[in-house]
Amino acid sequence: MFEHVPRYAGDPILSLVQTFLKDPREHKVNLSIGFYYDGAGKVPVLGSVSQARDRIDTSVPAVYLPMEGDAQYRKAIQETVLGAGHRAVAEGRVATIHTLGGSGALKVGADFLKAHFPGSEIWISDPTWENHYNILGGAGFPMHAFPYYDAATNGIRFDEMLATFEKLPERSIVLLQPCCHNPTGIDPSREQWLKIIDVLVARNAIPFFDMAYQGFGDGLEEDAWVVREVANRGIAMLVGNSFSKNMSLYGERVGGLSVVCPTADEASRVLGQLQATVRKNYSSPALFGSRVVSTLLNDPALREEWKGEVAQMRTRIHAMRKGLRDRLHALRPDLDVDYFVNQRGMFSYTGLNPAQVDRLRDEFGVYLIQSGRMCVAGLFEANLDYVAASMAKVLA
Ligand code: PMP
Repeated sequence: MFEHVPRYAGDPILSLVQTFLKDPREHKVNLSIGFYYDGAGKVPVLGSVSQARDRIDTSVPAVYLPMEGDAQYRKAIQETVLGAGHRAVAEGRVATIHTLGGSGALKVGADFLKAHFPGSEIWISDPTWENHYNILGGAGFPMHAFPYYDAATNGIRFDEMLATFEKLPERSIVLLQPCCHNPTGIDPSREQWLKIIDVLVARNAIPFFDMAYQGFGDGLEEDAWVVREVANRGIAMLVGNSFSKNMSLYGERVGGLSVVCPTADEASRVLGQLQATVRKNYSSPALFGSRVVSTLLNDPALREEWKGEVAQMRTRIHAMRKGLRDRLHALRPDLDVDYFVNQRGMFSYTGLNPAQVDRLRDEFGVYLIQSGRMCVAGLFEANLDYVAASMAKVLA
């Protein structure tokens, strides 16, 4: 019956992790997959999260959540993404649902948009998180890339990006990462964002923000700046957010999708259609993680503690960036490696080409993904010297 079903080649990043696990070398270093590791090289359990978990009354039966998720959880998402007391929320213009992580936000958002903007096409940065193609393309949208990464300067091809946006057909959907761009680590400046917004407004485009790393760049509030700026202006937009990384709750599938609408009437229509989209997909979201997140975010003391823990994770990432830059600078004064400290978030485009990535893995046991993307959060004091020394030998 299923003979004709083709074999799945597997996800390249997840397959690489399997190869890493089988690698017998003791000094091996995994800088491939997007996990935040602490200074001891472990995926952390945050103190605020474990306290929230301890408070959950497990004698309450696990009945279904509504299609859109729990009301307290959704309120907490709006406050985290848009800031407490945002005008758009007070005016009832934001339709927010619980989604299965940031991936679920992309999927529900894309299905919703496909149903109601069937002629639109999606634009995503070149390069982007590979799964954007699967999820957004899988919803049936033609996909286009807009210029983003500039290998020559390790910056953004800003003028070309803007020129592309200036020619967009009306109601084009533009997928943007508000902070900690995956895979490059390079974000537009605020000045650049303002120009981007002006062009998207002029083109009557639909911004779809994918915020998977809020808090890992410059701060929980700072990282959401562009999202809030667009919401302040009353522009229709979508924003997906994820607690996978900033709460270290990857497997609980806790995220959200918020659609900011020009009027409260539109928001209530949109919320209904988001509910319908969820119903057609998986019916209702997962309960336990949302109880943990909601308990945490709705308790002022736990929320403060969490903010402190996010700050610690962010500070550690910055310290590792600086540690790598300083070591490489000492070993290879001929190279300009300042980009490591100018980039933000968990990822860095190292500038290594596929052959160099292969050499780093085969000769030194240091695993990056083929594009040269490194997960900076996989660095810690104990492996920093070794990684820097290995990279210094491999970088051209
Ligand atoms: N968007 C981006 C840019 C990501 O990097 C990721 C996670 N790698 C996601 C969305 C998905 O997040 P989640 O794991 O919460 O589904």
